[in-house]
Parts: sequence; structure tokens; C-alpha cells
Amino acid sequence: MGELLRMLGEQIICQSCGMPLKDKIHRGSNADGSESLEYCKYCYEQGAFTDGCTNLEEKAKQCIDAAVAGGLPKKSAEDMAKAILPRLKRWN
Ligand SMILES: [Zn+2]
Repeated sequence: MGELLRMLGEQIICQSCGMPLKDKIHRGSNADGSESLEYCKYCYEQGAFTDGCTNLEEKAKQCIDAAVAGGLPKKSAEDMAKAILPRLKRWN
């Protein structure tokens, strides 16, 4: 997990869910339509959050469910959510 966090610290990631934003196609958009370098398109579009989450607990559940649906073991998904989400700007 330490290695993962070090890696994430060196690249831009969504400040809501932790998704890497290196790839332009994953970036959300600001109110003026410009590209967001802080949030991904699954969390944020046209300057507003679109994921329906209002707190860290809800977001953690959403991220864990999505990761498990994507094939990650539940324990790993939970550990990752707990390690990453509390560090992100949206939840601080
Ligand atoms: Zn996101």
C-alpha cells in the first residue's frame, strides 16, 4: 500500500475518487466547459458533482462497489478506499 500511495502522490488524480487523470478522456469539466485537472468525469461535469455522494462514507461505498464489480477482491477495495479517499481534497 505504501508503494501505491507513493505512486499516486506523483501523478494527478481525481480529488474525489482517486482515479488517475493522466488520460484526458477521464477528466471532468468545469462550469465553463474547460477541462478539470482536479476531478474525473465520473464525479464532476460542467462544474458540479454528479456522483450523488455527499460524504466520505457514501463515496467509499460507491468506490468499493465499483472496484469489486471490476474484479478486485472486497478486502483490497476496502483497504484502497480507506487509504486514498481521506487524503483527497473533496473530503477535507
Ligand atoms: Zn472521480
